[in-house]
Amino acid sequence: MITETGLITSNRCIARNLWRLEIEVPEIAYAQSQPGQFIEILVDVTWERPLRCPMSIAGIQDNRLSIIYKTIGISTHSLATKQSGETISIIGPLGNSFSIAGAGSIPVLVAGGVGLPPLLWLHQILTKQNITHYLVIGAQTGEEHFVKTDQHKNIYLTTDDGSLGRHGTVIPVVESIIDKTNNIYIYACGPEAMLAAVQDTAFEHNIGGQLSTESYMACGFGICQGCVVKRRDFKQADHSYNLRYALVCQDGPVFNMGELYFG
Ligand SMILES: Cc1cc2nc3c(=O)[nH]c(=O)nc-3n(C[C@H](O)[C@H](O)[C@H](O)COP(=O)(O)OP(=O)(O)OC[C@H]3O[C@@H](n4cnc5c(N)ncnc54)[C@H](O)[C@@H]3O)c2cc1C
Repeated sequence: MITETGLITSNRCIARNLWRLEIEVPEIAYAQSQPGQFIEILVDVTWERPLRCPMSIAGIQDNRLSIIYKTIGISTHSLATKQSGETISIIGPLGNSFSIAGAGSIPVLVAGGVGLPPLLWLHQILTKQNITHYLVIGAQTGEEHFVKTDQHKNIYLTTDDGSLGRHGTVIPVVESIIDKTNNIYIYACGPEAMLAAVQDTAFEHNIGGQLSTESYMACGFGICQGCVVKRRDFKQADHSYNLRYALVCQDGPVFNMGELYFG
């Protein structure tokens, strides 16, 4: 884990309420970060907002790291005002990462909303390695999509309001891929409801995979104990806190399919 002052090289709006920020952070960039890992950004140095924002790494090129973020509250709106040339404090790389499944399996990447950034990076790596895979991206509306549908590249989009791509959630598209493809392995990141539905679908078809989850967190490295999630398979006799619960920041954010309970 490295604390570094990053130099912003680009910060631009790429879709409705979605921004891509590029930062020069040589030490973190060369720390062999992997898709799934995240950083903690101190957006403003002010006593009113001392907490950092966790953001997944969306890609690394040379000494530059990128994130894709949605303007939601006070910190992300403030982040969107930052200009190239400004500096910002970053801690990273944090958490674990997706591990590439065994040879012969076909990765299906399922992203919902701002769950896309770590999967875009995984998609780039799989593309570079010529590994056949699918990318299914869900959003509420077409204005939130910045990746284009390309059935030749197995990229499929869905929207809740039907304004772009297939109308509805990602699940019917995932089901249709399952129907025509053997030996699938799922990687998913997105809202909890989507992860729960992906996990149910995977159970139904006996498919393995990894899910990256989000949780409110203050520190990002196990001190605050704020990002607790419940494990699925604990036994009533297990009194240990660690067997019943996991920390998203340290044990995750990536968990094996079936490892977590989505209540
Ligand atoms: C591991 C991880 C990876 C993430 N990756 C991304 C990403 O790639 N892109 C993206 O847009 N968002 C991502 N998020 C969510 C992002 O951290 C929140 O949207 C952001 O912190 C909201 O801050 P805010 O001040 O604008 O909003 P407010 O709602 O005003 O939040 C106030 C404070 O609450 C905390 N907080 C609020 N929402 C969340 C949240 N969902 N998760 C954790 N803490 C939160 C933060 O400490 C924040 O400073 C990720 C969250 C986690 C845990």
